[in-house]
Amino acid sequence: METEASILQVAVPGPFPGPLDYLLPTNDGPAPTVGARVRVPLGPRQDIGIITGIASASQHPAHRLRPAKAILDTSPLLDAESLALAQWAARYYHHPIGDVLAGCLPTGLRRGQWPAPKTTNAWHLPDNWDAATAARLERRAPRQAAVLRRIMTLGGTATAAELQDLDGDWRGALRQLVDKELLGLGMAAGENARKTTAPELNPDQSAAVDAIRDGLGTATVFLVDGITGSGKTEVYLAALQAVLDRGLQALVLVPEIGLTPQLLQRFRERLGPNLAVMHSGLSEGERARAWLAARDGEAAVVIGTRSALFTPLARPGLIVVDEEHDLSYKQQDGFRYHARDLAAVRARQHGIPLILGSATPSLESLHNARQGRYRTLQLNRRAGVAQPPTVHLLDLRGQPLDAGLSPELIRQMRRHLEADGQALLFLNRRGFAPVLLCRDCGAVAECARCDARLTYHRAAGRMRCHHCGYERPADTRCGDCGSTSLHTVGQGTERLESSLNALFPDQTTSRIDRDTTRRRGAMESLLEDAHSGRSRILIGTQMLAKGHDLPDVSLVGILDCDQGLFGADFRATERMAQLIVQVAGRAGRANRPGEVFLQTHHPENPLLTRLLRDGYRAFAEDALGEREQVGLPPCGHLALLRAEAPAADRPRQFLEQARQLAENLNPSPVALLGPVPAPMERRAGRYRAQLLLQSPDRLALQRFLGRLSPALPGLPTARKVRWSLDVDPQEML
Ligand code: ADP
Ligand code: ZN
Ligand code: ZN
Repeated sequence: METEASILQVAVPGPFPGPLDYLLPTNDGPAPTVGARVRVPLGPRQDIGIITGIASASQHPAHRLRPAKAILDTSPLLDAESLALAQWAARYYHHPIGDVLAGCLPTGLRRGQWPAPKTTNAWHLPDNWDAATAARLERRAPRQAAVLRRIMTLGGTATAAELQDLDGDWRGALRQLVDKELLGLGMAAGENARKTTAPELNPDQSAAVDAIRDGLGTATVFLVDGITGSGKTEVYLAALQAVLDRGLQALVLVPEIGLTPQLLQRFRERLGPNLAVMHSGLSEGERARAWLAARDGEAAVVIGTRSALFTPLARPGLIVVDEEHDLSYKQQDGFRYHARDLAAVRARQHGIPLILGSATPSLESLHNARQGRYRTLQLNRRAGVAQPPTVHLLDLRGQPLDAGLSPELIRQMRRHLEADGQALLFLNRRGFAPVLLCRDCGAVAECARCDARLTYHRAAGRMRCHHCGYERPADTRCGDCGSTSLHTVGQGTERLESSLNALFPDQTTSRIDRDTTRRRGAMESLLEDAHSGRSRILIGTQMLAKGHDLPDVSLVGILDCDQGLFGADFRATERMAQLIVQVAGRAGRANRPGEVFLQTHHPENPLLTRLLRDGYRAFAEDALGEREQVGLPPCGHLALLRAEAPAADRPRQFLEQARQLAENLNPSPVALLGPVPAPMERRAGRYRAQLLLQSPDRLALQRFLGRLSPALPGLPTARKVRWSLDVDPQEML
């Protein structure tokens, strides 16, 4: 019998459990190769998929197969290793392979385009560059300031392609900046880049770098467990240099808000300009070019956020995941993968080391280290001259509060500000006040679509829901009784800012939260004010908690520790501890001794006292012990089946059916918990419920999900709800 390779197996985006079969295109075109893009008919429309296999036969009769329209690549766009990683992820997360592959590709390439080649001219910041320049130009020459900010964001050098989406006459602004010698013009990638030399490593750092160097070429996972400011980044840089010296490439992942201009500049200055940056702020063409430069081995180092994990490398040598505990590595919708976990899979596949770094490692990674799967490298001292901060608990019970600040915290702020220190206040709640209360009837302004209150934003004059995005003009009368006697309750960052302006009229205050950083470049210029010392008091939410090196901050205040102590999620205490340690790490970074003040109504809370007395590792040991007792991750494994629908009872019905199905599959040793309503049951007008699957054995859970998930779409109510399966869920919302 003739066995001719005439069937294309194509992974197409959409809810298909596997690749779809197509006949070869009827037109002349490139020969099919696995990993190439192909345009195929899909119902009445067309889409672009990836060829994952070429076969001689199909399970479907030939007359039911349609020919592909056109093969788009003469050679594979995705190499075998990238395909294998995507296939592994599709299996593990029980997500359609077509969607997974689509998620691996930059948008332009996914749509079948090919980026225009790069121009070679590049503008670069001069050697004597002073970061305050952009801020100074802000008023007089906003367009020039915008150009400078963009170039800073890109790490000090940019091509025309990287600037072309700026508003207005950016070419004119470039010429003026070059005339003023605020910018230099030269060839891209190379000659003009300055290179700085590494500091002499301290003994802890040297030992870590030696261990990693010895591990190159092996699939070792290193957990670099180093306190904030201990010089972890220097360890990565030295390890990266060792990889580049061998002619290999490296991939560096950083959290969403960690990819700052300062970090990119530091990497470029040390490792050379040959860096491919992958993040959502890039134009489509730039992203595709960076991706291809990595794939073709032209870029030495790829640095990016979560999805950069999928960037192919021609000569992989090392993967680094910085702040590995960070929640932004987990995609929370669609293809719900965890980039840190997939980085471990990928490193094993390539046979190369993985470095996970953090001052507050996740319990998952600590557990793996304890089991001997990861090798721990500790950095126990702050690098250079910096000393660890001293931490004080401020008991709020019975204290008169001014805008959420205790008298002691205000006194301490005065002291630090007078000594020319900067103060950083952390409050994880934006807006003016989280509650608007009617004095006459006690009603509270609530979102009509969520089980949540509306936050009052005074400057914007709006009521906003932080869960669904609903907003309306600020209420002037009570929605229930019509009274105009409305009262704001509680603290948000906006209110804190205005109170601080009244308390410290001579000091400049900067607020950094989602509201003040919406505008492009706003974050950079606020951070600029913080760095240059122009602003003395910094107010921040989570956004300011990590990554930013602010050498003059000598006081850190955490206004409300209690928020995280009693969360509904079993990870709430772990997150709070990480946050406290990370925020505290902002104090005393250079040669100023730092002080941290934690305000709480629960100064005797065992978690807080353990953390403060014995440190994060001791806290983590306790927490791991607790997780072990109840079989929660990392000492047990979870999957969460979520369902939501506008009709209140639908999600539960669907999950009851799913549970029935699961019971029939006899899922020992998998425990089924629920269905129960989600912690916030109604959100954006939809009711939400969940069914939790728990097992002490990861493999058993995987096998069970492999049988359960293909049957879910066939449940009677499956089409009446929106459902999703989350393997290793990070948030139980
Ligand atoms: P981490 O990543 O652990 O927060 P960094 O690598 O950013 O720490 O180092 C913190 C600060 O200490 C930086 O300003 C860095 O330049 C400096 N530093 C790091 N290692 C050394 C060293 N061996 N000698 C002097 N300064 C160092
Ligand atoms: Zn009222
Ligand atoms: Zn809402």
